[in-house]
Amino acid sequence: MSERIVIAFGGNAILQSKQKGTVEEQRANVHTACLAVADLVQAGHQVVVTHGNGPQVGAVLLQNDIAKEQVPPMPLDMCGAATQGQIGYMVQQSLTNILRERGMARPVVSLVTQVLVNSDDPAFTSPTKPVGAFYSQAEALRFSTEKGWSMKEDKARGGWRRVVPSPDPIGLIEKEAVLSLLQAGAIVVTSGGGGIPVVEKGGQYLGVEAVIDKDLAGERLACDVRADTLMILTDVPQVAINFNTPEQVNLGTLTLDEAKIYQGQGHFAAGSMGPKMLAAIRFIEDGGRRSIITSLAMAGQAVAGSAGTILHK
Ligand code: ADP
Ligand code: MG
Repeated sequence: MSERIVIAFGGNAILQSKQKGTVEEQRANVHTACLAVADLVQAGHQVVVTHGNGPQVGAVLLQNDIAKEQVPPMPLDMCGAATQGQIGYMVQQSLTNILRERGMARPVVSLVTQVLVNSDDPAFTSPTKPVGAFYSQAEALRFSTEKGWSMKEDKARGGWRRVVPSPDPIGLIEKEAVLSLLQAGAIVVTSGGGGIPVVEKGGQYLGVEAVIDKDLAGERLACDVRADTLMILTDVPQVAINFNTPEQVNLGTLTLDEAKIYQGQGHFAAGSMGPKMLAAIRFIEDGGRRSIITSLAMAGQAVAGSAGTILHK
């Protein structure tokens, strides 16, 4: 059966934590990820791709910081747009090449995507998401007065970092464009890095310095394109309860109610599995058929129903 599937790649699909971030490393990882996408396309599914951008936007921010005396630094929304472009380009080229090799040429297109957030979102009064370089306490103080940045100490890694709000996504501004492209048979890469956060003011969209969680944005994307399945690909084959303890139990198929009970018991860590499970739960609550959380290697089997953690009504 042919399905419309939104695939959300985690940071690891593009850059692994032990890697340096060279273009060769990123291309090789993206190629592996695109092989999994191509398999699903070949199986007859309609695919929409979204992805994280943590390491890439970190690199752009650092470049800005190092070059600031010569090149005016760009705000976070501009850096987000730049990384959507660079990652989107890698996916476009890699997936196009794989599909051509397999004799099933299809248009692959990446879209610079804005995601609407509420300017009254409580996240704006309590920034939580660390971005960019590490600074000394003196620098941190200076940036907070000069630029109005919120700074937070990361004791474990011995430095101060800027923290930005992580508001809840409402929906894609480019939703209709994505739907038209899908209608035309394209494979669309969209809402990268959770999308560029924008607020609406006096009928105008304005970029804001914030970061949207890519899994929660992926859920909005899946609703916006009326996907059958939201598939979140990360570096573990299944979600677990009592994760990383002797009592760990991996979860296969589970109902919405079961997922909410485990969520309430605090099994899914904030900042990693937490937002993925929240996205999976929201998608079912919003009328989606199926949410899958699994690894890249298990993607095909999970869509066929025989691997991963699968959430349904
Ligand atoms: P990505 O970069 O793909 O978005 P994250 O690193 O943010 O992925 O989240 C995936 C990680 O979540 C896993 O590698 C695992 O260490 C961690 N994790 C936290 N809680 C759980 C859980 N209950 N079950 C499985 N993995 C968990
Ligand atoms: Mg990660």
